[in-house]
Formats: sequence, C-alpha cells, structure tokens
Amino acid sequence: MSDRTPRTVDNYVDGEWVAPTGDDCATVANSATGEEIAEVTFSSRADVDVAAAAAVGAYADWRTQPVEARVQPLFRLKALLEDHQDELAETIVREHGKTFAEARGELRRGIENVEVACGIPTQMQAGTLASAAPGIDESAVRHPLGVFTAITPFNFPGMIPLWFLPYAVATGNAFVLKPSERTPLTAAHIAELVDRAGFPDGLVNVVNGGAETASALLTHDDVVGASFVGSTPVARSVYETAAAHGKRVQAQGGAKNHIIVSDSADLEFAVEQTVGSAFANTGQRCLANPVAVVHADVYDAFAEQLVDRIGSMVVAPGDDPDAEMGPMVGERDRERVLEYIDVGLEEGATLLYDGREHGVPDEGAFLGPTVFGDATPKMRIVREEIFGPVLALVRATDFDEALAIVEESRFGNAASLFTERGREAKRFRHEVDAGNLGVNVGTAAPMAFFHFGGAGESFFGDLHAQGDDAVRFYTDERVYIERWPDVGADSA
Ligand code: NAD
Repeated sequence: MSDRTPRTVDNYVDGEWVAPTGDDCATVANSATGEEIAEVTFSSRADVDVAAAAAVGAYADWRTQPVEARVQPLFRLKALLEDHQDELAETIVREHGKTFAEARGELRRGIENVEVACGIPTQMQAGTLASAAPGIDESAVRHPLGVFTAITPFNFPGMIPLWFLPYAVATGNAFVLKPSERTPLTAAHIAELVDRAGFPDGLVNVVNGGAETASALLTHDDVVGASFVGSTPVARSVYETAAAHGKRVQAQGGAKNHIIVSDSADLEFAVEQTVGSAFANTGQRCLANPVAVVHADVYDAFAEQLVDRIGSMVVAPGDDPDAEMGPMVGERDRERVLEYIDVGLEEGATLLYDGREHGVPDEGAFLGPTVFGDATPKMRIVREEIFGPVLALVRATDFDEALAIVEESRFGNAASLFTERGREAKRFRHEVDAGNLGVNVGTAAPMAFFHFGGAGESFFGDLHAQGDDAVRFYTDERVYIERWPDVGADSA
C-alpha cells in the first residue's frame, strides 16, 4: 500500500472482509507527514450483532475441540507474525509514528504472548485430589465462557490486541477485537494473518469504530467479558458499564509513573535508562516514567548529564534508520503536549530543555524531548498524564521523601528505582503501590508469562492481562466430585 492511496478499512467478520455500515468515520494519517492514508467507517450496532453472532456460532464447536487442536492455529499465527514482522512494523510506523525499531520491538512483545498461549495445554490444568473425602476424588477443571471482546488503544496497535486474542481463543473462547480508530491498519493486517493461520470462521473478528461501537460490544447479550486498555476516564466507565451488564471485565487505564534516582545510583546508567523510559514511543507509553525523583546530592549532575544526552537525540520519521524518536500520533496530541509545556512554565518549573526548539522535520506531529527541572508533586505536569515527550525532575532531600512523592500519585501502573543499596530496593518493593516495579530497570515491562496490570487509577478489575491471570480471566473453574462406592480403597 502506498501512502498516496487512501484505503478503506473493512471489518473482519466470520472469515470475510465486510464494510462497516455506521454513520461516523475517521481518517487515519501518516503521523510523520500528516498525509491521509486510510479512512475507517465505524461499525453500527447491527454490525456488532453480526460479529457477535458469528462468534457465538464459532464458539459452539471450538469449545469442544481438543486443546491440542486449538493451539495449532496459534503456532501458525506465531510463524506468520514473525514472517511478516517487518511489514507489520512498517504499518505501525506509518499510522502511529514510532520508529521502526520500536515497532519491531512491540511486535516481539506481542508474539511473546502467542508463544505463551501455545502452552495452554499445561496452563489450563487446574488440579486433582484423590481421596479428597471418603471414597471421593475431586478435580477442578477450567472451562471457556463464550465470546470475549477487547477494546484497545492507539499506542501499541500490534502488541496490545495480542495481550488478549491468543489467550481468549487458546482457552476455548471466541473473540471480537475493536482496535483504536486512530490505528486500525495494524489490526487489519493482524486479521489477515489470523485468516491465514486457519482459525475457524467467526472465531476471531475485528470490528472498527469508536466509543459507540465499543458500547455496543460492552452491553451486548452475547458478549460474556471485556478487556479494555486506554485512558483512565474511559477505563473507569468501561468497567462500570460492562459490570452493570453482567460481564467479566478487566480495564487498564492511564498512568504517570515515577523513577527514583538514589544518591547511590550509577548516574550514567540511570540517565540512559531514564531517557529511554521517558522518550521511547515519543512518551506515549503507559509504562513510561515521565517523572524522575532525584536525590538532592546528585540532582544537578543527573540533570546536566540528561540534558547533554537528549540534546543530540535524533527526532525524525520512524522509517529513518537514524531516528531515535518519531512524531506523536497526531497533531491534536502534539498541541495537547504544547499546552502542558505552557502549564509547566506557568506553574514555575524550570525549562531545562525545550523540545519546541529541538531540530525536527517541518511536516508531521513532531516535537522534541522536553525536560522540566524544579518540578514539585503538586504541579499538574507531575500529577497528570501528559502522554508525550515531557520529563519532569523533582528534587528529594532523602529516600523517605522520594518514596512519599511516588506515593502521592493517584496512578499505579509502574515505578522504577536506581540504587546500589539493597535496603532501598527492598523498601521500594514493599512500600510503592504500583503493578510493575523495576529496580535498576528503566521501563518495568513484564514478560508475557507474568501478568501485566497496574494499581490505583491505572487498573479497574482484578485479573490482569497476560500469563496466569489471562488464563483465569478467560475461564471458569468447575469442580468435579466423583464417588464410585464399589471401588475399594485398596484397588485405587
Ligand atoms: P482512549 O481511552 O482514548 O481509547 C482507547 C479505546 O477506547 C479506543 O479503542 C477507543 O475507541 C475506545 N473508546 C473511546 N471512548 C470510549 C468510550 N466512551 N467508551 C468505550 N470505549 C471508548 O485511549 P488512547 O488515547 O487510545 O490510548 C492512550 C491511553 O491508553 C493512555 O491514557 C495510556 O496510558 C493508556 N494505556 C494504558 C495501558 C495500560 O496497560 N494500562 C497500555 C497502553 C495505553
């Protein structure tokens, strides 16, 4: 597909590509040029009904298939995703803006989830106990539940659908994805590979759209559960709506993560990791650490090294091999971040590095990396999710104060600590209320065989994505209790 040929994005329903029939639509732009590359029509409630019916139909047979048969298309999907990783990455670069290396990286993390789900024959085993009571053996068995949906954000269009799809179908359910209307091309590309992987028609469906399409899924009688990833206000409302309609729901929200830099830290390493964490994906990451709380004794040295490092950062289109940071996803996002830079100045923070003055291409939603110093926990630039390339440095007189500053956040997706002291690491792990805690790790992103999810206003629900939690989210446990009275204990 050439950037010069806008295309329409169809739904993938019951193994066919069909045009959505809703009234609304959105354009998808190349983030680096602003050029329109696709149009996406939103799905109506009737379109969602058709997808849900297809999924219900496919589920009836799929749930009876041996688990070994259910994982075979997943093995094929893994191979197809790897074979097409570069093309998928190119699609992500175009519609999202991130660098090619970042796009490949997110796909690797997505494929990792397919790999983990291929192990479902072991992971679905629940437990058996012989002679649980006189003459009675008991066993717990996991069952699929029906049709699940996932509503996903723009910022990882390849990886996040794969946090859900592989586990949903491996456990015996059917699946309807509603990708972000801002980055629908990657989901369409993944659906093409799903189609080739040999899943039964209707088992995996993709419906495009925005809030109304999502709402039709969340309130649909045939949908038993929903996964959501996106901003906190929407996550909260999705959680409430889905729960009110009797669905199982996990809703991952926004974030504002902190790094603590101890006076004992290896500063050079901490600077490099902080830059990676704050500015990768142009700061549009729920695991980014856009606040660094730095011990007063090393604050000046840290700030100086950081500013030196980002001054040379290459900000360029994601398909430029030298690019270290691409554009933001769209112009309205860039404008939002520019407003936050004004807010930081009004609040009295010191602009240590002004991304507005960084050399960037003229076209597209580009903005250079920005660093504020002398920020305080009460400032909006520290409290609110900016979701762009803005890092705020906060000075802490000691480790106790640093911990207290982190704890002030209403979010709890992740936090990181740079230290050479074990006792600080231990306190950090015990006292910080966040889902992912990194010690000498800039971005605390768990591998797919561990669950992924936050705390506080970063997560609504109980079972998280990935790993064992995903298996439990997509299944119910039944207990079988069996007695065969004429079989004596000595013949067991
Ligand atoms: P968003 O909340 O605007 O949209 C996310 C999805 O929700 C999209 O598919 C969108 O169409 C849909 N949606 C929008 N309004 C809705 C409504 N009223 N009801 C139901 N669905 C609705 O988020 P975004 O801008 O696409 O993504 C960025 C946000 O996602 C950031 O806040 C970021 O922190 C968060 N995020 C969180 C995680 C995590 O794991 N916690 C991961 C990635 C992104």
